[in-house]
Amino acid sequence: MNVPAFEYLPATSLAEACALLAAHAPGARVIAGGTDLLVKMKHRRLVPPYLVDLKDVPGLDHIRHDTGDGLRIGPLATIESVKQSVDVRKRYPMLHQAAACMATVPIRNRATVVGNICNGSPSAEMAPALIALGATAEIVGVDGARSALVEDFFVGPGCTILRPDEIVAELRVPEPSAGSGGIYEKYSLRRMDVALAGAAALVVPDGETCGDIRVVLSAVAPTPIRATAAERVLRGQVPTEALLAQAAAEAAAQSRPISDIRGSAEMRVKKVEELSGRAIRGALKAARLEVTR
Ligand SMILES: Cc1cc2nc3c(=O)[nH]c(=O)nc-3n(C[C@H](O)[C@H](O)[C@H](O)COP(=O)(O)OP(=O)(O)OC[C@H]3O[C@@H](n4cnc5c(N)ncnc54)[C@H](O)[C@@H]3O)c2cc1C
Repeated sequence: MNVPAFEYLPATSLAEACALLAAHAPGARVIAGGTDLLVKMKHRRLVPPYLVDLKDVPGLDHIRHDTGDGLRIGPLATIESVKQSVDVRKRYPMLHQAAACMATVPIRNRATVVGNICNGSPSAEMAPALIALGATAEIVGVDGARSALVEDFFVGPGCTILRPDEIVAELRVPEPSAGSGGIYEKYSLRRMDVALAGAAALVVPDGETCGDIRVVLSAVAPTPIRATAAERVLRGQVPTEALLAQAAAEAAAQSRPISDIRGSAEMRVKKVEELSGRAIRGALKAARLEVTR
């Protein structure tokens, strides 16, 4: 099956890319790695007459950490380069874990982190960790720049807050709070497959208590979601086995998965309980908090 014909529009700056998108709206799309876009085009699920390529724009593949400022990920930084980054592995282990279990090395060498988010899939591998860490998307368009939490970026399956002329110019991930611990867990038929369910948990300790906690689910609702009811169970509490089980059950209750050829909604709800329980337990351990009986 061939990719349908399109006009190729290479940009040499982000401003030019936004102007090209605006001039050809709504028929133009940005292409980064093309691992989502070209597949959709081959299957005629998307047939954009214009593709605006960012590859000739210099300096967009950065992964930079500055103490105090946090992590910056450019729109051409690949998932594999994020996985390989020493700063990411050391300071943002959850992001490393998510990158490591996405697809295969050849796909990861093309696929970008920003493209993963902009594709708007409810199962976007990088979304739970980015949301748990409080990441923002820095967006540029013909009318200027704006910033949005990744948590607010997804609107529905395949839909994001981006307007037709807008581009994500960078993802910014704040410095995690001192002593915090985060874990990403994924369930898929094979490790490299798209998630049937995903869960990330980030715990910030306060003495013996779970001072703050974020639990984020993917692939079990029209967008990635915060499991806020699960968070409420543990926030400010000394973690116990009973509270941990209750939090996992609340996460499952908040999920709204669909049944499809890969699995039933019932199976996914069960997996959410299991995955979120594992992610929360792992995050508590990474934050050096003991779970008492
Ligand atoms: C075999 C295979 C396995 C896969 N496995 C997984 C998996 O396990 N988990 C998973 O989450 N995904 C998976 N994917 C999907 C895909 O690889 C990822 O979502 C990838 O990160 C997309 O990045 P990309 O750079 O290729 O995006 P592209 O395909 O280039 O673009 C995707 C979308 O984002 C838009 N876009 C890209 N960059 C920008 C930008 N800077 N600003 C605005 N819009 C932008 C494009 O217009 C397009 O709509 C898989 C794909 C394949 C082919």
